[in-house]
Amino acid sequence: MGVEQARDVVVLGAGPAGLTAAWQAATNGHSVALLEQGDCVGGMAASFVVDGINVDHGSHRLHPATPPPVLAMVRELLGDDLQLRSRNGRLRIYDRWVGFPLRAGELVRAVPLAAAARIGRDTVGAPLRPRDTDSYASVLTASLGPELYQAMYAPYAEKLWGLPGDEIDAEQARVRVAADTPLKVASRIVRGQRRGPGRAFYYPRLGFGQISTALAEVVKAAGADLRLGSRVSGISTTGASAVVTSGDGTRWRAGRVLSTLPLPVLARLADPAPPPAAIADAQALRFRAMLLVYVGHRGGRWTPYDAHYLPGSQTPVTRISEPANYRDSPGDPTGHSVLCAEIPCTVGDRLWSAGDGALADLVSEAIARTSLPSLARSSVQVRRLPHVYPVYARGFADRLVGLESWAEHLPHVTTLGRSGLFAHDNSHHAMVMGLAAADCLQAGGGWDEVRWTAARAGFRGHVVED
Ligand SMILES: Cc1cc2nc3c(=O)[nH]c(=O)nc-3n(C[C@H](O)[C@H](O)[C@H](O)COP(=O)(O)OP(=O)(O)OC[C@H]3O[C@@H](n4cnc5c(N)ncnc54)[C@H](O)[C@@H]3O)c2cc1C
Repeated sequence: MGVEQARDVVVLGAGPAGLTAAWQAATNGHSVALLEQGDCVGGMAASFVVDGINVDHGSHRLHPATPPPVLAMVRELLGDDLQLRSRNGRLRIYDRWVGFPLRAGELVRAVPLAAAARIGRDTVGAPLRPRDTDSYASVLTASLGPELYQAMYAPYAEKLWGLPGDEIDAEQARVRVAADTPLKVASRIVRGQRRGPGRAFYYPRLGFGQISTALAEVVKAAGADLRLGSRVSGISTTGASAVVTSGDGTRWRAGRVLSTLPLPVLARLADPAPPPAAIADAQALRFRAMLLVYVGHRGGRWTPYDAHYLPGSQTPVTRISEPANYRDSPGDPTGHSVLCAEIPCTVGDRLWSAGDGALADLVSEAIARTSLPSLARSSVQVRRLPHVYPVYARGFADRLVGLESWAEHLPHVTTLGRSGLFAHDNSHHAMVMGLAAADCLQAGGGWDEVRWTAARAGFRGHVVED
């Protein structure tokens, strides 16, 4: 029998959502434990060191769309270490590189003549196309036209989510529609818009994960008990309070559990188990995984760009970023660099199971195919994240409603965060959720359900930024 502990609130997962919730809850006077399975905080938004350079889990930026109270909070935490940077990326389309985010007209100039004519034809015909809302493919083909959809959206979607566009729910188009992705670029060009989301972004001097490490400091200073290496293995909701079991056998009794674990994982850990229909819903909701391949490069910076976007089907790599170009930091070495290649995949598939050397070769192939400077490879490290992109396969919404209606009635437990709500959200959204959840806590672990329902309605308006 392990140790017994009691807290007003036990928060599961120390990513941006859990850290923010734990900090605010402790600041408001609740006794709080924060349990994290990993050996550091930050979750997907963490940073770590490769070859002496701080790197992230793929390209991370704090977007200018961050709501003012969250931006003010991060500014307060990081001070001058939070830098305002200009975006400097490139996008591969029609076998050429164009600056990304796009300058007005640049894509039009870069596109081969025949394709430009087809885009022109699609633009003229746009008002006549039926507004089909059946799938991701039909929504985007209707709004952008077949040429741009096929050139960028269709292959990119298949790489990211592992499904052809006509098997992806139309909701996917909605949550990405304001994103500054290849998708948004195309939409801007088609609609002739000249203004879009900022070309600037915020970034911490020591890597994106500095936001989370700064949050962890204030979590501890506020008196919360932050436990790393504490994997949650069970959540019992049968008694007058919830009991969370962590890997070392400790049983945490809590008036309220705030879980940022992936929603289907919560369903697996819950005791009593969900009814069969909710279990079936949990099994049907799938996540795409991601491989992050970090390749050391000898001989200074590889390129002056922060990220290269690769929407095409010639390579499974979707983006290659160069972390040291995201900030201005005297701590970054000048004699070598590290690249991070993002490869979406599915747990257990051929890519997921590939060795580090084979994955580094895939990155080199992607680089060779796209006329990028060749790599003087000095090292390779691979991270494998199992729950990265919630897959919005057609019909997912019914499954999600089914699972959520089970979760909403779980006594003493609230699910939040990107994977907890099966949402594509950014870290600023996750922090908004953490703040909102802490606001709903009442004395002794009580919970303001009405307030949380209103907050949840607000989260539905989140639009993902890339
Ligand atoms: C490639 C990529 C690029 C991105 N780019 C951006 C960007 O530019 N800007 C931006 O704002 N956001 C970006 N994001 C999204 C951002 O990373 C997430 O929104 C954010 O990390 C979500 O925070 P969270 O706290 O909800 O979840 P997570 O960060 O997923 O944290 C959940 C935590 O729960 C822990 N956990 C899971 N299971 C257990 C268990 N059983 N027991 C204990 N702990 C457990 C995990 O270890 C993790 O630490 C990107 C994400 C990816 C993958």
